[in-house]
Amino acid sequence: MDQSPVAVYVHTPFCPSKCGYCDFNSYAMTGEIIDRTVAAIETEIRRSPWAGRPAKTIFFGGGTPTFLTAPQLCGLLRAVLETHPPIENCEITSEANPGVVDWPKFAAMREAGFNRVSLGAQSFVKEDLIRLGRVHAADEVGKAVLSARQAGFDNLNLDLMFALPGQSMAAWQRNLEAALSLKPEHLSLYCLTIEPNTRYYRLHLKGMLDLPNDEAQVRMYDLALQMAGDHGYEQYEISNFAKPGRQCEHNRCYWLGEEYLAYGPGAVGAIGPVESRRRYTNTKHPQLYCERVEAGSELACDEETLGLGEHRTERIMLGLRLNEGIELAPYAPDPQGLQTVESRGWLEWAGNNARLTPTGRHFCSEVVAELI
Ligand code: SF4
Repeated sequence: MDQSPVAVYVHTPFCPSKCGYCDFNSYAMTGEIIDRTVAAIETEIRRSPWAGRPAKTIFFGGGTPTFLTAPQLCGLLRAVLETHPPIENCEITSEANPGVVDWPKFAAMREAGFNRVSLGAQSFVKEDLIRLGRVHAADEVGKAVLSARQAGFDNLNLDLMFALPGQSMAAWQRNLEAALSLKPEHLSLYCLTIEPNTRYYRLHLKGMLDLPNDEAQVRMYDLALQMAGDHGYEQYEISNFAKPGRQCEHNRCYWLGEEYLAYGPGAVGAIGPVESRRRYTNTKHPQLYCERVEAGSELACDEETLGLGEHRTERIMLGLRLNEGIELAPYAPDPQGLQTVESRGWLEWAGNNARLTPTGRHFCSEVVAELI
């Protein structure tokens, strides 16, 4: 069996409540189902057909991993570390919600081996957080950063969202200033997208969300680029900014088209050689997931084998998200499309790599459509 290091993702699907914009596989559940699901995830990990493959990176996402107790979360990490021995300096991240973390939990996580925390701040404005349905208060982000620092985490990410309902340019600027004042090593700055099957989608259909228009969204994004750059962050992906040496190694595996293993309800993995890679999605609902693990049944509720054609499309799509760009020649881009995006000033060359220009970053989907 292939023994090369591989990215490992663990999905914990529980949250204190469901945010209005969220279409992730997350559930506002409490009680016995959480203990049962944690036990099932551990069983899935320890039974892995890929046991023994070293972990290149480990990432706990959700859901809200820190909604679990420290022993639950650390127990799952122990199962991963024993199943997939980590490479030297393996990046081990957990997402965290500022409303459900404190110093003792961070200290236990650090002790267990986590070395990076990604905090879902989203906004520092009380009204935004209420509208988004977040459980944390604005001042809890700063407290969570302080607790994480005191627990020994020297690699922190903050997630912020822009183009929120009713958000002004000045409010977005204040949010950026608040985030930058906390001096995280990494910033993820996402434009709010309205996904089907969310409360926000239904409100949007009724015309009840006062969203900034396209032009305002572009100005908000450009302000983020400028302020992050002024504070020493290097943009390395459309939505991601890092201090030197602090890019998210786990997410880079996705953008570079590498394999990734995934455990937990609804987790998505992609494994195997590029010409016949199997992409699988685990059964999503925790109850059904537990039943299948306990019965030893097949866990995938969806799977497909990706061929070279799909690999080419994904490589172009994801590679162009990176500021370093992608060597296009092996993926035979459409010559006419290439000419079009170059003539519009959306694509430029850095040696053999093609990359989006600052203007092109606003048109990533259009560029990809032209090239494939
Ligand atoms: S905390 Fe994250 S995963 Fe949980 S409901 Fe909110 S957006 Fe979804």
